[in-house]
Amino acid sequence: AKYVYRFSEGGKDQKDLLGGKGANLAEMAKIGLPVPPGFTITTEACRAYMRDGRVPAELRVEVTMALREIEDNIGRRLGDFHEPLLVSVRSGAKFSMPGMMETVLNVGLNDASVKGLAEFSGDERFAWDSYRRLIQMFGKTVLDIDGELFSAALDAKKAEVRAATDVELGAEDLKDLVGAFKEIVKEQCGREFPQHPREQLDMAIQAVFGSWNTERARLYRRRERIPNDLGTAVNVVTMVFGNLGETSGTGVAFTRDPSTGHSGVYGDYLPNAQGEDVVAGIRNTLSLADLEELDAKSYGELMQAMRRLETHYRDLCDIEFTIERGKLWMLQTRVGKRTAGAAFRIATQLVDENLITMDEAIGRTTGAQLTQLLFPQFDGGAERTLLTKAMAASPGAAVGEIVLDNAQALERTAAGAQVILVRRETNPDDLQGMIVAAGVLTARGGKTSHAAVVARGMGKCAVVGAEELDVDRAAGEVRVNGTVLRAGDTIAIDGSTGEVFLGEVPVVDSPVMRYISDGLQAGLEAADDDATRELVEAVDRVLTHADDVRRMRVRANADTAEDARRARERGAEGIGLCRTEHQFLGDRRAYIERVVLAEGEQARQAALAELLPLQRADFVELLEAMDGLPTTIRLIDPPLHEFLPDLTDLSVKVALAKANGEADERDVKLLAAVRRMHEQNPMLGLRGVRLGLKVPGLFALQIRAIAEATVQLREAGKDPRPEIMVPLVGSVRELQIVREEAEGILAEVGREAGTALDLPIGCMIELPRAALTAHRIAEEADFFSFGTNDLTQTTWGFSRDDVEGAFFADYLENGVLTISPFETLDADGVGALVRAGVEGGRKTKPRLHLGVCGEHGGDPESIHFFHGAGLDYVSCSPFRVPIARLEAGRAAA
Ligand code: ADP
Ligand code: MG
Ligand code: MG
Repeated sequence: AKYVYRFSEGGKDQKDLLGGKGANLAEMAKIGLPVPPGFTITTEACRAYMRDGRVPAELRVEVTMALREIEDNIGRRLGDFHEPLLVSVRSGAKFSMPGMMETVLNVGLNDASVKGLAEFSGDERFAWDSYRRLIQMFGKTVLDIDGELFSAALDAKKAEVRAATDVELGAEDLKDLVGAFKEIVKEQCGREFPQHPREQLDMAIQAVFGSWNTERARLYRRRERIPNDLGTAVNVVTMVFGNLGETSGTGVAFTRDPSTGHSGVYGDYLPNAQGEDVVAGIRNTLSLADLEELDAKSYGELMQAMRRLETHYRDLCDIEFTIERGKLWMLQTRVGKRTAGAAFRIATQLVDENLITMDEAIGRTTGAQLTQLLFPQFDGGAERTLLTKAMAASPGAAVGEIVLDNAQALERTAAGAQVILVRRETNPDDLQGMIVAAGVLTARGGKTSHAAVVARGMGKCAVVGAEELDVDRAAGEVRVNGTVLRAGDTIAIDGSTGEVFLGEVPVVDSPVMRYISDGLQAGLEAADDDATRELVEAVDRVLTHADDVRRMRVRANADTAEDARRARERGAEGIGLCRTEHQFLGDRRAYIERVVLAEGEQARQAALAELLPLQRADFVELLEAMDGLPTTIRLIDPPLHEFLPDLTDLSVKVALAKANGEADERDVKLLAAVRRMHEQNPMLGLRGVRLGLKVPGLFALQIRAIAEATVQLREAGKDPRPEIMVPLVGSVRELQIVREEAEGILAEVGREAGTALDLPIGCMIELPRAALTAHRIAEEADFFSFGTNDLTQTTWGFSRDDVEGAFFADYLENGVLTISPFETLDADGVGALVRAGVEGGRKTKPRLHLGVCGEHGGDPESIHFFHGAGLDYVSCSPFRVPIARLEAGRAAA
């Protein structure tokens, strides 16, 4: 393998091999920007090092070749004692990663070359300062010496000569300090500070490789879901000096404002400084405008370089630069990070500047960023008291009473209160409390803790790892920074910033949300400054374009007319899944009980007949809300016993009653029925189509209700478009039986009303067998809807309701999973079944209408998969409709 790439050999698309920093340094060199000569050691070399525990032999040779080339070109040698070449050794992985070894500057200095540097630069102080920096950085990062020891020695020296800052130390002081630093190295390592320049270089390279696997780096990767086996590249770059007096300096800049996206140039500059001095805040920095006054020529060059970068990358870039005695050098660039709002504004601004097309603009924004903009916000103008700040684990803004356990959470929410569940950490036992809470706050845990993972899954606001929080459940108190809060006290948490506030903070819809639900005008009116108005307009343009280009339609999962209306407002083009189970809950439980307990066919029919008008009314409302748009209604899916009382509760009740000699006849019968239907594995049991076939009349009732609702609306001049969907089909025969019955009912109701009711009848594909026999099932289906929740459950053999809390955290940690397969479709496994289902279905019916209605329908990555698989639509929760519109557009653009 080739382990070393000169800057002239690489390019920006080689981040896997050269890391982000290396790839962009090469790119800058390629487009003619002034980059100091250097080379990049590949991530492959790092992987070889990790595998073998030593640096590959060829690497040493390749480093020699590349180094000599630089030496010959500029006519200086590494660590020479006349005009020494010095280099920096910089880590740089594919993803930028704090937690790894950063950078060693001034490699190549030793007792001899320091004199050469002094002579060559004509600045003795500078030379000794550079040397002491090398020993300090090298000691800390390569030799692993406690940095405190060096800073203590530095402070001692400053005290000795009464110097207030480092700059006041003279050449002789620094010489002493170098002596002291070398002593420290000897004491701590039992060896001298390495004098040989090449040895310094090799040790630094190896240290960068080694830093990939430090505890800190691993922790960071786990949190950010960066794979462990990528490795880091190492950049070796000729040193240029910003600390060579007042005509030198170093700075950072952005080609446009990263928080607003406004074009223009932003940055900080520090004269007579090196490396991190600018960001370390040791002295007050100057603006770029000040630089223009100081050094118009370098400023001009910098402006040109930045314009060149923006034109080349056609995006916001951030840069690091150094000026050495009036000469500009570019040390780093990358396409800059930005806030969610800035992403939209930058994208449309670049379109207006004719730098990118609208197709590209939608590619510059993501569904995840749009999500950020849709969450309710704390009213920015309101007064508030910050209690603490921790990790922003799941975005949103929530206000509520503190509750410390499930019991309190359930009690207070039942009484109509909004609550925030505050726990030291959460585990699966806290699920009930989390479900009813408006938000979750924990004192422990990171972004992949139970609380964080579960809250994100539920779309619930969460702040985790608030270490200053002392949660004392026994005392019923939460103590934080001297404030004592009790259960029942109100707090507010911001899951987008990690802030925790005392008391009520008013929450408002975000202006972008107002735009999504009520249109552009409303969004603009909700914005209270120009920047936000620009943002609303930008989102509108991006989303409108996404709507124009996408192939997939976006439907919503909505069970009630109210949800349906909300979804429609947000741009849903139909309902992909209306679950009918809620129609059997609440007051209607009694009817279901009667169906189950009915003795004989007649009694059952009578009980079902009572449900008919109620169901019909449900469907009339829903179909009216979705007038003119397709509405997929799924026949009842969950196991019947879910609508009946809990087995244990009822057993206890009956037993107690019996003991008192007053057992209720109905309860006894009910208990027998509940016991009969009790299942060990209800999700794999009597549910879906199996239930429909087992309990005669149940599906028939629903189908009749749909048919009659359709007739009723048509007679009122409406355009209802229901589609009947059969759940959990595994065999074509199941669907055939239901279809036959349904067609009979539709024909009968149609005949009576004098209208043709040929409603589409289709099924869910949510069992592996259904996907694998899709060609057969398609014979009886007018459409398929992939139920990827159950399909994931049955493909992996995971119980969705249990595993997330039980072992997903471990699985994320040890790398079996990088993300929950219930969140993002497992493309390799479950995705293969989806593809098989598509292929089989379309083999039988080339124009078979295909959609997806699992949770994945609203997940960005999964949406791209479904586009690729050829689905006609995705269906997701109403909240996610705009996100799905954007991502479906991005997938098609
Ligand atoms: P990070 O990734 O933490 O920014 P860098 O490798 O970019 O680390 O380097 C840290 C600092 O040292 C930066 O300010 C950078 O500009 C400066 N630096 C790195 N290499 C050189 C060099 N060859 N000459 C001068 N300054 C350098
Ligand atoms: Mg940097
Ligand atoms: Mg299902």
